[in-house]
Amino acid sequence: MARVYNFNAGPAALPQVVLEQVRDELLDWHGSGMSVMEMSHRGKEFMAIAAQAEQDLRELLAIPENYKVLFLQGGATTQFAMVPLNLMGEGRRADYIHTGAWSKKAISEAKKFGAVNIAASGEESGFAAIPPQSAWRLDSEAAYVHYTPNETIGGVEFHWIPETGGVPLVGDFSSTLLSRPVDVSRFGLIYAGAQKNVGPAGVTLVIVREDLVGHALPGTPTILDYAPQVENDSMYNTPATFSWYVAGLVFAHLKAQGGLAAMAEINQRKAKLLYRTIDESGFYRNPVAIADRSWMNVPFILPDAALDATFLSEAKAAGLLGLKGHRSVGGMRASIYNAVSYEAVETLVAFMKDFQQRHG
Ligand SMILES: *Cc1c(COP(=O)(O)O)cnc(C)c1O
Repeated sequence: MARVYNFNAGPAALPQVVLEQVRDELLDWHGSGMSVMEMSHRGKEFMAIAAQAEQDLRELLAIPENYKVLFLQGGATTQFAMVPLNLMGEGRRADYIHTGAWSKKAISEAKKFGAVNIAASGEESGFAAIPPQSAWRLDSEAAYVHYTPNETIGGVEFHWIPETGGVPLVGDFSSTLLSRPVDVSRFGLIYAGAQKNVGPAGVTLVIVREDLVGHALPGTPTILDYAPQVENDSMYNTPATFSWYVAGLVFAHLKAQGGLAAMAEINQRKAKLLYRTIDESGFYRNPVAIADRSWMNVPFILPDAALDATFLSEAKAAGLLGLKGHRSVGGMRASIYNAVSYEAVETLVAFMKDFQQRHG
């Protein structure tokens, strides 16, 4: 069996030790005689798995006591609707920051529920830079400010937390949560689909300040209201038990590796190596402003798109997979989440240099 170097954007690489543990526990979890997939979500075994996962996540992110942690379903896309449904309130006004493809989707969904003010947009730069906070036009009456800390497709990332003057800040952390420490107390709500940097698809993390729960708009479907999920510990209905369990194993693994400060250090080194290779090549190009380049998703283009197919097939032959850019932008993209090792990036960089030698 050969494991490849996996640069998929999502679903994405998982730590091999986690997969091995899943394999070892698959048929008989801790003497229960069954797989986690086959257990009642209300039985004591799964309740213990769920509680441990939450505790480890709280430790990793130093989540303050006055925040609830939810393990929901429906992906980040469901949060595009749940956030306005639960947070817009009577005033029905919210600020959104438009930095690329994912914030665009969040914006178009929010518009169904109220007035959306685009307080800042990266459109002028072709979404190759984050609009500086000095250019933002925030609405002091807004119920919240929504932004996308890491645009998974464009590869632009905030390396700072916006200042909102007391208005709750909401972040779609789908592709960057757990890549480094984050000061949760600066946020009203953080959400993330798991399948980028957290665990398998199927579970969505929501970290919400408790005073923001319980104000859903009239007519909000129960399943889209945070309050019953908080009251029922994310078990208002049957949760995605297996994904929740695997995410919990990832949390324990991250703790054992030294937590998020250790992840930040290695993730920054991985990104630096790849961007340096691109910038010094005179062959590959990354269009993003240097200060706003993502540590997680690194898009790059070749001098001639006619080389793309050759690049991808030679990369595949070298055991490097998942490098095709998003269909909306073309080119290449290397997603280098926590589970992608420094060695994987070194191998990619060596391949890129070799490819350039032969085709440059
Ligand atoms: C992948 C992604 C989404 C969509 O996630 P789903 O879980 O597929 O709904 C939303 N926002 C960002 C930033 C993403 O990377």
